[in-house]
Amino acid sequence: METHSVPDYFGELVFDDRQMRARLSSKIYASLRKTIDEGKKLDPKVAEYVAEAMKEWALEKGATHYTHWFQPLTGVTAEKHDSFISPSPDGSVIMEFSGKELIQGEPDASSFPTGGIRATFEARGYTAWDPTSYAFIKDKTLCIPTAFCSYSGEALDKKTPLLRSMEALNKQALRILALFGNITAKYVRTSVGPEQEYFLITKEMYEKRPDLKFTGRTLFGAKSPKGQEMDDHYFGVIKPRVQAFMNDLNKELWKLGILAKTEHNEVAPAQHELAPIYSTTNIATDQNQLTMEIMQKVASKHGLVCLLHEKPFAGVNGSGKHNNWSMATDTGINLLSPGDTPYENAQFLLFLCAVIKAVDDYQDLLRLSVATAGNDHRLGANEAPPAIISVFLGDELSAILDAIEEDKPYKGTEQKIMKLGVDVLPAFPRDNTDRNRTSPFAFTGNKFEFRSLGSSNSIACANIMLNTVVAESLKIYADRLEGAEDFEKTLHEMIQGTIKDHKRILFNGNGYDDAWVKEATEVRGLCNYRTTPDCMPHILDEKNVKLLTSHGVFTEKEIESRCDIMLDNYCKQVHIEANTMIDMALKQILPAITCYADKLSSGVIAKKSACEGIACEYEKSVISRLSVLADQIYARTGELESAVLKLADAKDVIEESAQIRDTVLPKMGELRARADEAETLVSKECWPLPSYGDLLFGVR
Ligand code: ADP
Ligand code: MG
Repeated sequence: METHSVPDYFGELVFDDRQMRARLSSKIYASLRKTIDEGKKLDPKVAEYVAEAMKEWALEKGATHYTHWFQPLTGVTAEKHDSFISPSPDGSVIMEFSGKELIQGEPDASSFPTGGIRATFEARGYTAWDPTSYAFIKDKTLCIPTAFCSYSGEALDKKTPLLRSMEALNKQALRILALFGNITAKYVRTSVGPEQEYFLITKEMYEKRPDLKFTGRTLFGAKSPKGQEMDDHYFGVIKPRVQAFMNDLNKELWKLGILAKTEHNEVAPAQHELAPIYSTTNIATDQNQLTMEIMQKVASKHGLVCLLHEKPFAGVNGSGKHNNWSMATDTGINLLSPGDTPYENAQFLLFLCAVIKAVDDYQDLLRLSVATAGNDHRLGANEAPPAIISVFLGDELSAILDAIEEDKPYKGTEQKIMKLGVDVLPAFPRDNTDRNRTSPFAFTGNKFEFRSLGSSNSIACANIMLNTVVAESLKIYADRLEGAEDFEKTLHEMIQGTIKDHKRILFNGNGYDDAWVKEATEVRGLCNYRTTPDCMPHILDEKNVKLLTSHGVFTEKEIESRCDIMLDNYCKQVHIEANTMIDMALKQILPAITCYADKLSSGVIAKKSACEGIACEYEKSVISRLSVLADQIYARTGELESAVLKLADAKDVIEESAQIRDTVLPKMGELRARADEAETLVSKECWPLPSYGDLLFGVR
């Protein structure tokens, strides 16, 4: 029976707390809860009961298979389905699912990237149940969120280090809370609300574009006469077909217990955004992966294609993902929320400073956590935060920090110099209206918004780094405060010291301004890693390896393998793009130009025979321009081909990626420029690819 009311079907496909409570005995439930909340080791006997209850529930929902759902380093999620059936001696089958099958799986997944880790040990990795993220049903399959590791324990996925980073932050944050007298908090978790941008185009047009099909972005395409200059799409009325898609999408997400909350049109034509209500980072990460998958499926049902690439169209805004991030205790205290008492305020300022220090000390790690071939087109282009990482605090909070730094009165304190831990922090408006959208890392009242993520990125990488770098600041503070003779004095000095030492990272101005790039790099000495090959190798810098290993987030080997895999992904991605361009240039674009030039020539002959002495200026000028362009396109295609061939000589992936940045990508740009010019001259009927105008304004 079709259910209609949202509360009725919300979460109906999730084995959530309601199901656990209803289907497990109170003893088993309590034991499982301890594992979920406090990371206590899972008793295998408990797993048996949970598996049985999960199976019963899944069968009631019509599931026939189960899978260990995991996030290998390819960037997408992976699953291998096993059916529940098990033969019975009488020839029938019974549906079985054991605790062991719940806890551990062994996908034959030897082709997932490992950066050399597995080759030296075993060919196989195994998956291990992550009870902190709920199991769910998708396509008649019970999906069990799992971590993916090698037999020697190295992480081969994104979830394992994410869980480790959450634990690292938890440990250090609890130490700080204890210093402020809070010993009731059992744990501190980070929460994330990822805002997801995407484009919708018609499937019919998508099918006609090999570049979109193979690479997710257009590799050719002249500017449309109308783009986003009118700003008439942003928050505009949603078209009925898009609305129908969004309604369906919401329903599918709600069934999966995903709190899809807001939806609106974005700046670019055909661009939209979806934001869920925030949840624990681990769950938010799983759910964001699922959201991206469901978006594509639902779009397909509506005859649409959902593009998650960071820059599907040149010259039009790309898509990002805003990672709204905060830390909170199990008792519900948001540690990035200013409080009402002097102690709460001092604690807030300390956590705030921990983030400021962390972002400054590890700009490189945050930058590289969002680096992909796709996102390189966005960061530093004029619609996305620059590749330079800086922190926006807003005028009020900045004024407060200034006052603390210089022991000067703050205007809100009636000319009194504030003493931390004694005085109440002056109230400052938690107003979101003047938020600076050009900042890559902005404080927005009670959370930070990390805006550099690309729309197709898993949010795991950014949060692994964010959690770890903040854990490090908190550790340094806790070490010092625990040994302090005078707590308040030390606290004051530490906060003041952090502001002094790290104010170069604070920037409230326009991040899109060229003047900022100059100031940031030349005056403030901030990092500006424009591309993936520029930043990725810095994960191997001594200070970064030390940080990541000392908090138990990665082993040295895992870091090396990740660097390798991320660069390899980059190389492969651009490699495919280059090959696609070559193919399209030779098989579609050059033939289209020739075809149109032929048409014009026959026209000229016909005209001339009809009317002697006629000039045919238009035809001749277009034919001559097209003929020059065709030669150039052919030559550029050849150059691109040789640049690609030369990649084989690179001694390692670091060198190969640098070569791609310096030779392949510029050649792609040159080829495209000529082809796009030709597009503006060739008749629409001869041009084989839907134009930017068709693609961007095609959904009615
Ligand atoms: P914007 O104005 O940036 O578009 P939205 O309202 O679309 O903002 O999205 C804000 C996101 O931040 C939502 O996903 C919301 O749930 C999330 N959020 C709100 N409070 C917190 C918090 N304390 N921690 C993490 N995320 C939060
Ligand atoms: Mg936002």
